[in-house]
Amino acid sequence: HVRCAAGRYAARSGGSSRGGLRAGEVLVGLVLRPRDLSLREIKYFTFPGELLMRMLQMLVLPLIVSSLVTGMSSLDSKASGRMGMRTVVYYMLTTIIAVFTGIAVVMLLKPGEGGRESPASSSSSIQSVQAVDAFLDLIRNMFPPNLVEACFKQVTGVLLTSVLQTLEETVPTAGSSSGVNALGLVVFSMCFGLVIGNMKDKGRVLRDFFDCLNEAILRLVAVIIWYTPVGILFLIAGKIVEMKDLAQMGGQLGMYTLSVILGLLLHGLIVLPLIYFAVTRKNPFMFMGGLLQALMTALGTSSSSATLPITFRCLEENNMVDKRVTRFVLPVGATVNMDGTALYEAVAAIFIAQVNQVALNFGQILTISITATAASIGAAGIPQAGLVTMVIVLTSVGLPTEDISLIIAVDWFLDRLRTTANVLGDSLGAGIVEHLSRRELQTHDTEICRSVVVE
Ligand code: ASP
Repeated sequence: HVRCAAGRYAARSGGSSRGGLRAGEVLVGLVLRPRDLSLREIKYFTFPGELLMRMLQMLVLPLIVSSLVTGMSSLDSKASGRMGMRTVVYYMLTTIIAVFTGIAVVMLLKPGEGGRESPASSSSSIQSVQAVDAFLDLIRNMFPPNLVEACFKQVTGVLLTSVLQTLEETVPTAGSSSGVNALGLVVFSMCFGLVIGNMKDKGRVLRDFFDCLNEAILRLVAVIIWYTPVGILFLIAGKIVEMKDLAQMGGQLGMYTLSVILGLLLHGLIVLPLIYFAVTRKNPFMFMGGLLQALMTALGTSSSSATLPITFRCLEENNMVDKRVTRFVLPVGATVNMDGTALYEAVAAIFIAQVNQVALNFGQILTISITATAASIGAAGIPQAGLVTMVIVLTSVGLPTEDISLIIAVDWFLDRLRTTANVLGDSLGAGIVEHLSRRELQTHDTEICRSVVVE
């Protein structure tokens, strides 16, 4: 009861300051823009934001591992199997809907109509990547041969590496933080959790260890959470100061940006809330209110993995979602469920086709929808990972991969928005899966009570 009240209080007290901050971030950025700060000054200015990013990233690895291991080991295999199925169905369904929303918007607005406005950069050294190679890399990443290595390295085949290198010249964040092989760790932690869950008394030590680790990490998050508003302020204001030329948002690129934003708004504010309401019969916007801090962190950091600690706090403390659900649904979601990224990949690919005056047939559009879904699953939850996996979508329908350079200029901005949609999708998913799994969770509670009484 006390935890409930505290959570609600935190949500309420945090809410008012967050409203002020949103305007504050933009204002600070706009005031400093005309001062024409040098790169070094901007670096100093954004330092508090960089610190927030580092603190959050520091917690991601132990959080993913401990929450998945405890989550999987605390439920019997039947209950976790059912919960897993519901999660997968929700993730697949919402990602596919997001892709089709994106396709509908970009076909309607036709941002690239009229052909090429600006030539593709000829210096681009992006090589053509075989979609199948990228797929194989995705599967390879699920099974890291060396667990320690997986904590700081993920497989990127030779071709994708060349894309990463090229993008890194323009987008410094694209490759630099792509360290953790989250997919491999997710697969390992789930299997490990299932096994120690079935080991009865023998596995108790390990179960207690990971449970305690998870609790400790979440306590650390509680400390960091006080610093997030400051960090986000500097991250967003810093980006506004750094922005080179707002005029580049005009013309085709402006229409493309608008198409992505419209698609994300439709998905985030209409489709997802409708699905939540249809399943739970509860007000989705009340639920989303409790997520504000996580959504703001996603906007500030452009990383669903870095936002993960805050997403946990918001769902468990503000929205009172069962820990057995969040521990499973959230780490998996931050790694593979990216509605915003999938929508963006579909819009971007069709935009590039329009710019090249390529008329796509039904089969090609279907291919784009399938590969955009796969590319979003393969994208890591880090800044601008979606830009890299876009290569898979483009090659699948024979579009020039070097045309990624056409959309790089606005990607830092769209990345923030699609990351926010990604985090929203994961969080509403946790609410839905909890609702659908309530019977199993209750049965499990009763069994625990019974065994305690017997003991
Ligand atoms: N930045 C996104 C995320 O972390 C991934 C992407 O680039 O689309 O969710």
